[in-house]
Amino acid sequence: MSNAINTNTEVASYDYIIAGAGGAGLSLLHYLMQCSSLVTKSILIIDKSFNKTNDRTWCFWNKDASVFENLVQHRWNTISIHAQGFDKELPTAPFSYKMIQGIDFYNSILHNAKSKSNIHFQEATILDITVIDSKNPSKGAKVDWEGGSAMGGYVFSSLLPFQMNQLNAAAAYSNSLQAGTSSNNKAPFLWQHFKGRVVQFEKPVFNKAIAKLMDFNVPQQGATAFMYQLPLNDKEALVEYTIFSENVLGIAEYDKVLDAYLAKEFPGATYTTTHQEIGAIPMTQIELASTQAPIYTIGALGAAIKASTGYAFQFIQEQCKNIVDQLDKGLPIQTKVHNTRHGFYDAVLLDVLFHHKMEGAEIFKRIFAKNKAATVFKFLSNTSSLLEDIQIMRSLPTSIFLPAAIKVLLRRS
Ligand SMILES: Cc1cc2nc3c(=O)[nH]c(=O)nc-3n(C[C@H](O)[C@H](O)[C@H](O)COP(=O)(O)OP(=O)(O)OC[C@H]3O[C@@H](n4cnc5c(N)ncnc54)[C@H](O)[C@@H]3O)c2cc1C
Repeated sequence: MSNAINTNTEVASYDYIIAGAGGAGLSLLHYLMQCSSLVTKSILIIDKSFNKTNDRTWCFWNKDASVFENLVQHRWNTISIHAQGFDKELPTAPFSYKMIQGIDFYNSILHNAKSKSNIHFQEATILDITVIDSKNPSKGAKVDWEGGSAMGGYVFSSLLPFQMNQLNAAAAYSNSLQAGTSSNNKAPFLWQHFKGRVVQFEKPVFNKAIAKLMDFNVPQQGATAFMYQLPLNDKEALVEYTIFSENVLGIAEYDKVLDAYLAKEFPGATYTTTHQEIGAIPMTQIELASTQAPIYTIGALGAAIKASTGYAFQFIQEQCKNIVDQLDKGLPIQTKVHNTRHGFYDAVLLDVLFHHKMEGAEIFKRIFAKNKAATVFKFLSNTSSLLEDIQIMRSLPTSIFLPAAIKVLLRRS
């Protein structure tokens, strides 16, 4: 990117500043580039580094071709769920479960953006973002980094106070957030933390047609844990040990479970690890940052993560598409994507998991035992009908979920 990076130290002014060029920042940039009425707007995008690596794999489901369909590396039309005494394969139609490599996503959008004269790049660590005149948001905001600053009519920030692929930093953040709160009064905050390996076997061992979405036959760590296995072909798969809990583990502990699982599942078969990823995704409804004109938060910082599952990619797309639509129409910016009754269901499920009222393995087993994958996918995408919601809820014990629902309602009132 070096030829496009701004080295000017004067305070330049832009229509839009995108602070953070990750999943959300680049999604927003993508939709801005697609919008014919906004293609002449000046945009500055800032990140610590534009030298992107393949630091994450994005999986999501949808019915139709996604905006990034050309980047989809693999898709599955069957998923499976496993727990003690329970093995179920479920066709996902009309949905497909899809995988995009982070690096393909970053490169594709950055390559396109680099060819546009209205888009400018600044490689720097942002130190501060401030409103220029709090009484008059239309004056915009100022973004400062070491040795420079810029003004933007609107600033879209995805700068989390921790990095999701630095487990200890993430854990320290949630501890600081809850500091001084007694365990009874803690608002639910779990980490979805994981370590994944892309393993390459010498001989065929995988059924490449089936994505093993959750295999709970792994150490539960006193919480909810499962193995996630996505085969790319019959010899290669992403295998990820995932836990929903308050505390992250040491790296060696994920590795120990991964080693034991692969040895048990594929006895005697040899493999090499070609890629690894780690992450800690916040599962919470605690607001991580406020969002207000002219500084709007997007992505993980902007509450795009679904609190009960950790899935975010599709919600980030919805959030960024909506923002561009609102800019296009001159409407006030509204960034919320989980403001429906589904946000309430998330709160209830999170409460049950956080307070260990029922094990996650049992909850997901019951949901998938009694419902089609498509109904569950709709429910988890916030697009299910009330009738479908009731159907999902009937899979779960009222004696546990009703008190949790009442508690959430009381907390909200
Ligand atoms: C390993 C991993 C795998 C995931 N897999 C999935 C998945 O399969 N499906 C799904 O739906 N979700 C997944 N997620 C969750 C979510 O989709 C991603 O975390 C997504 O990247 C969030 O986008 P974001 O823009 O909010 O954050 P990020 O993508 O992390 O982007 C933030 C950007 O801000 C930059 N930045 C931060 N601080 C500064 C600073 N001070 N100055 C300048 N730049 C800064 C960073 O360098 C980064 O580029 C995954 C997350 C991780 C960590």
